[in-house]
Amino acid sequence: MPTFRDAQTGLWSHFDPEDLATPRAWARDKALCNAWYLWRVHLVRSVEPNAGHRALAEWATLPGRQIHIVTQNIDDLHERAGSTVLAHLHGSLFAWRCDRCHAPAPTPNAPPTPVERLDPDRCRHCADGDIQPGVVWFEEPLPATEFDLAIDVCRDTDLVVVVGTSGWCNRRPAFRTWPVRTAYLSWKWTRARRCSPRPRP
Ligand SMILES: [Zn+2]
Repeated sequence: MPTFRDAQTGLWSHFDPEDLATPRAWARDKALCNAWYLWRVHLVRSVEPNAGHRALAEWATLPGRQIHIVTQNIDDLHERAGSTVLAHLHGSLFAWRCDRCHAPAPTPNAPPTPVERLDPDRCRHCADGDIQPGVVWFEEPLPATEFDLAIDVCRDTDLVVVVGTSGWCNRRPAFRTWPVRTAYLSWKWTRARRCSPRPRP
């Protein structure tokens, strides 16, 4: 599964991801953003959970173990591996909602081949808004409920395993999401043990 920044291939190679993942980008060109996110929906649905996803799901079944998964990933691979995700800090590709009334909406059908522009579905609830992906965009705060859940488990844990993230979302100061850093630091205050496996090159 390509990472966020590796997803700019083919039709999307000439776009900066931040041009496709901000509230301003959505307001400027909904059809472009919608098509890009639906292509990512298709990509996620075409892959299976990997050994890491499955290992966490198995870990949670061991006697005496209580595992909480807090993820910045917006896919559903943890769930498909059998885990219950405590918090999707960056939202989900599979939790669409109206951009006006915020009513939840089914995930739209994703085309099997990439198209550059695709008009979003109309909201069936208010009939006045468009259906947008339920993800946290650059310049947006993290969802409060998920963030509080992440803080709570970080403060009350014996071991934190940090995989595939530095705890920073973006090194550009204007886009730093300080709450993630706060969550990252909160477990240090508890002196929980930390493990940060790194993939081999
Ligand atoms: Zn609506």
